[in-house]
Amino acid sequence: MEIRIAGITEESIVDGPGLRMVIFAQGCPHNCEGCHNPDTHDIKAGYTVDTESLFSHIKKTVTRNKLLRGVTLSGGEPFLQPGPLSILAKQVKLLGLDIVTYSGFTFEQLTAMSIKNRHIGQLIRCTDILVDGLYRENERDLGLAFRGSRNQRVIDVKATLSADKVILWEEVAQRLWA
Ligand code: SF4
Repeated sequence: MEIRIAGITEESIVDGPGLRMVIFAQGCPHNCEGCHNPDTHDIKAGYTVDTESLFSHIKKTVTRNKLLRGVTLSGGEPFLQPGPLSILAKQVKLLGLDIVTYSGFTFEQLTAMSIKNRHIGQLIRCTDILVDGLYRENERDLGLAFRGSRNQRVIDVKATLSADKVILWEEVAQRLWA
């Protein structure tokens, strides 16, 4: 299956915990004022790659870089392409890496959308940490970890699905480190 992407950052420490590879999905309908990635909005721009070659690139990178903790699916809006991205995310997790996914949709919106589109549910379930919500310029805060504005949440997806209510990743981290 093909994925339309804007690009790949091989190493990042600002798009989730630890050292991560970041895949920027192409296409975003949200048009947030002050968006840092406006080139990712046009759904016809960017370039296509197939999931197999992207996975093989990730696998090679992990083999030579043992410090890589996970892969981040950013954008753009990854949930515009939930089918191929959930296939890729499943394969990546088998390598022992974790998945952080960014979305301009909230967790609640994605859950509602997953009723009509099962791939959205699959991508949610493959995700360890979801950073959700639109970027809001008037709530911008440079001191926040992994997100740009205060309304955005860093969600522990597994804990959220098992508790049936949103559990923030920071809360889990605080409990683990207490
Ligand atoms: S959701 Fe992200 S990529 Fe899309 S417009 Fe908002 S900040 Fe930009």
